[in-house]
Amino acid sequence: MPWRRTSSPYAILVSETMLQQTRVETVIPYYHRFLDAFPTPKALADADEQHVLKLWEGLGYYRRARNLQRAMQIIRDHHAGSIPEDIEAIRSLPGVGAYTAGAVMSIAFNRPYAAVDGNVLRVMARYLGIVDPVDQTPTKRAIEASVQSAIEHSEPRLFTQALMELGAMICVPRKPQCLVCPVASGCAAFASGQAAELPVKTPKKARRVVTVVALWIERNGELLVEQRAADGLLANMWQLPAIESTAPIAMEQTSEVLRLARARLNQYRTVDGGVDAGLPMSDEWAGEGGTMIHESPTDFVLMTSERHVFTHLEWNVIVVRPVGYHNLPIEDLPPNARMVPVEDLRSLVWPKVYSTILQRLARFETGN
Ligand code: SF4
Repeated sequence: MPWRRTSSPYAILVSETMLQQTRVETVIPYYHRFLDAFPTPKALADADEQHVLKLWEGLGYYRRARNLQRAMQIIRDHHAGSIPEDIEAIRSLPGVGAYTAGAVMSIAFNRPYAAVDGNVLRVMARYLGIVDPVDQTPTKRAIEASVQSAIEHSEPRLFTQALMELGAMICVPRKPQCLVCPVASGCAAFASGQAAELPVKTPKKARRVVTVVALWIERNGELLVEQRAADGLLANMWQLPAIESTAPIAMEQTSEVLRLARARLNQYRTVDGGVDAGLPMSDEWAGEGGTMIHESPTDFVLMTSERHVFTHLEWNVIVVRPVGYHNLPIEDLPPNARMVPVEDLRSLVWPKVYSTILQRLARFETGN
């Protein structure tokens, strides 16, 4: 792992931020590209946010990228561009929790601060034979205290990295490799034969499923796109005009899909009588592999669907192309919407699910 070969606090902070909720093999190319583009805290602090998000595109959890940039702006403005050897200062940066602060302090500065994340909780629950749920605060605290005590009697830089490495390579979530584990002789779970059953976790609530009906409105080689709000999920990223429903709707439930599509289309088509103004019927798109739906007076093509799973939420995005949109009042578009030439779509920052859809429907390539 490339971040094991550096003691730069900035590079360690970048790697630990990327590694939150993301697998090592996914992170490695992003890590290299990101540090090539922004080799110092100041370079990241000064960068255009859309450039930062572009290099994060496909990694998900975009709030991490924004927080990382805000953190480096604080480092630039208040710490002369260098991450200080000060746990409180690091901990106060946006997006930096106890784990990341501990990782930077121990790996970069060789100081005895514990870094306990999900991997370390798993390893320690097994090693200590803890059968209480590791996601509950008292259990976490007990494990953190145990790691803190151990790191104070070790070489902090080596201890933290060894524990992380053990969790990533040997004491993995499924099928821990106890027979080749260097600490098996002291491991309670190995001794009791419980390694595969630990750690215990509180059962999770089911994810919320949201149906997103998105409109594909293309005219003269340009596609109608919208920028998401500056706050909340996928803030400031681009998408197709869309409407959400908390009802789980399959693509085959055409009447429900079209009801939503028409509701969304009506938000644009406020002139010339809206969608019910007797727009021309056409089957010009029926040959593109979509399913033509004749719903007089406006026709729709069901183009594709794509599912995306967030931590607590699942999106089922269904893309619909309205055919009779010729009198769309382009000049009346809201400020967050614009028509973009199809060949320029890749310059915008898209959530992963929309990148996939665009690659499929517009031969769009993100470079990820
Ligand atoms: Fe994990 Fe097995 Fe090693 Fe114990 S012996 S730390 S359960 S890999």
